[in-house]
Amino acid sequence: MSLAGRGAVVTGGGRGIGAAVAHALAERGAAVVVSARSEREIDGVAGSLARGGRTAFAIPCDVTREEAVAELARQAGELLGSVDVLVNSAGASSSAKLADLTLEEWNRLFAANATSTFLCTRALLPAMVARGWGRVVNIASVAGKVGAPYVAAYTAAKHAVIGFTRAVAAEVAASGVTVNAVCPGYVDTRMTARSIERIVEKTGADPETVRAKLRAMSPQRRLFEPEEIAHLVVSLCDPGAGGIHGQAVVVDGGAVQS
Ligand code: NDP
Repeated sequence: MSLAGRGAVVTGGGRGIGAAVAHALAERGAAVVVSARSEREIDGVAGSLARGGRTAFAIPCDVTREEAVAELARQAGELLGSVDVLVNSAGASSSAKLADLTLEEWNRLFAANATSTFLCTRALLPAMVARGWGRVVNIASVAGKVGAPYVAAYTAAKHAVIGFTRAVAAEVAASGVTVNAVCPGYVDTRMTARSIERIVEKTGADPETVRAKLRAMSPQRRLFEPEEIAHLVVSLCDPGAGGIHGQAVVVDGGAVQS
């Protein structure tokens, strides 16, 4: 129970990686605020944690909106007492050839992935710094480290998340707060299911063939489970991980080695 007595906020906590992170943090003893736009999903995650004897709350929030994030921070502070851990897992992806990529879609992906991370970190990190302890973990992607065709907006937004992580880490290095990013390869969540659907729509390929191609992108020839990403996130939040700072750690079975 290494996080007993700590308060945590998980954005994108209603499903996928964020939901797995909320469960893993709660298992380590943290009181958790689960946030996303879909109230049904966050109520489901917080409810199942509460039924298992954990302390969890659901707060709906669109993390691309400045005033909504300020309200999330206010309510989380009230419910948790203090927010010691922030996991920025909210995000969105899509694909398009550069020539077909609209400004609207570019802005949407930047808002969902990068601006959301900025707004939540700016809202919650200063109090961690003032208390002298905290953990911020941003869910970036291997797309934050390497480029690939048809995902210019997502790739640029995730590079922005890693750049933001490094700059903020430098800014608060002596404070007792660590700031890191986690960079998964393809994880078996709704986001990946939607990516497969889009590829099938565009190419007419068979869904199982597309899934096999995504599996083959990892040297381990598999998709990753949300719980594997959550395992790394809670490790970074452990009190013993204070020296790991400003890093962008890859979980992809060894494809991207940096
Ligand atoms: P999911 O689509 O399963 O979940 C995304 C979560 O983010 C949902 O809870 C969603 O809830 C929330 N969200 C999206 N937009 C907003 C918003 N504007 N405000 C608040 N919440 C929002 O995706 P994953 O769990 O797979 O992805 C989680 C993170 O991991 C993302 O940042 C993604 O880019 C990253 N990632 C995912 C990979 C994968 O293969 N799946 C690989 C590498 C990185 P709601 O829509 O209700 O708001």
